[in-house]
Amino acid sequence: MKNFDIIIAGAGSVGTPLAMFLSAQKMKVLVIEKKASPGQGQNKAAIGGIRATHSDGSKIKTCLKSLEIFSTWHEKEGDDIGWRQGGYLFPVYREKEEKTLKELLKVQKQFGLNIDWISPQKVKELVRGINEDGLIGATYSSGDGSASPLLSINAFYRKAVACGAQFNFHEIISGVSKGNGIFKVKTSKGEYESPVFINAAGAHAKELSLMLSVDIPVKPDCHEAGITEPVEEFVKPMVVDIREGEKSKNYYFYQNFEGQIIFCMTPDPQIWGYDRKSTSEFLPEISKRMLKILPGLSNIKVRRVWRGLYPMTPDGFPIVQFDAGGIEGYIIAAGMCGQGFMLGPGLGWTISNMLYGSKDKDDDSIANFRLNRDFSGQEKLK
Ligand SMILES: Cc1cc2nc3c(=O)[nH]c(=O)nc-3n(C[C@H](O)[C@H](O)[C@H](O)COP(=O)(O)OP(=O)(O)OC[C@H]3O[C@@H](n4cnc5c(N)ncnc54)[C@H](O)[C@@H]3O)c2cc1C
Repeated sequence: MKNFDIIIAGAGSVGTPLAMFLSAQKMKVLVIEKKASPGQGQNKAAIGGIRATHSDGSKIKTCLKSLEIFSTWHEKEGDDIGWRQGGYLFPVYREKEEKTLKELLKVQKQFGLNIDWISPQKVKELVRGINEDGLIGATYSSGDGSASPLLSINAFYRKAVACGAQFNFHEIISGVSKGNGIFKVKTSKGEYESPVFINAAGAHAKELSLMLSVDIPVKPDCHEAGITEPVEEFVKPMVVDIREGEKSKNYYFYQNFEGQIIFCMTPDPQIWGYDRKSTSEFLPEISKRMLKILPGLSNIKVRRVWRGLYPMTPDGFPIVQFDAGGIEGYIIAAGMCGQGFMLGPGLGWTISNMLYGSKDKDDDSIANFRLNRDFSGQEKLK
């Protein structure tokens, strides 16, 4: 079968749940993925954090939908995806961060988010052994959580296949063109046609978009992460320290459903490019910072570290654009930065409902993700 209603480039954090929602709408969907199975691009590099507590309305709305999908998946669909509702905690040790986070709190509350300022006492209950020296308090959003990126994507994949979606793995898209209202997608194995083509190629979205002569500002930005051996639960939320360090901006960690501590850091300066080899700076920098905030971590062994790519945009917001570059049926869903895992299901649901459901394409749930913005702003909690 060579003709489809929709062809999606990439079976990643975005493409896979998108295929699931589109095939559930009875669309004939083909996903083309160069790797061997779903989630083998940047999805598996994600540490699994899922939050709606952003500083922007479109991100908040999309992630609220994602949270609904992740948190009810086990009950509705039966697969355990490692969902854990531990919340997100931004501990505060300085007036500077207190001011920033309290300002944000106003915006977040306007969107009805369940987030509040909590006392040092409450912080200590949520993170046993947290350094109390100078602790002013924290913002805490109890509805946020985490899940396993690989368990989740495989669950979405199985559901997409059950709904009729076709996934072609080990197949690279090498050319896309449009003529007579139809996209022709050339791959390493053949040629396929559809009236709608969705670019969900993550860190490679720019190369793919240039095949249709539409340039997009997405470039790979390297981030490293690591995981420890499992231990008894003592950290409930994802802890995000937004202070800057010697060689880093923020860092964050949480304890997953299996008891392992998973951690990640934003390097300073940023490291651009596709190199995924671990650096010698990451572990010393992040362990120094994590031990300062939570000395009890010192006895836990790190099992492995890895490095992946944020598909970065200049302002930290994703790009979601219908009829991109004036090409009818060309949809971009890329540039997810450090939040593609948490945005994926919500975006998949929104895009499929805008295409074939009752949702208006001008709906404000993706308004701030349009390609024709000037990219000069900066997302405060990227
Ligand atoms: C260390 C680290 C930690 C992170 N932690 C989190 C987190 O806690 N929460 C969160 O929400 N996000 C997190 N992220 C970010 C998240 O991983 C990404 O934003 C997300 O995976 C991007 O999703 P995507 O679908 O756009 O790209 P991907 O998941 O990479 O999917 C794109 C797919 O397209 C395929 N592809 C590309 N070009 C072609 C082609 N020409 N032909 C065929 N296939 C092609 C790729 O192989 C890939 O599988 C983290 C990232 C890193 C690196």
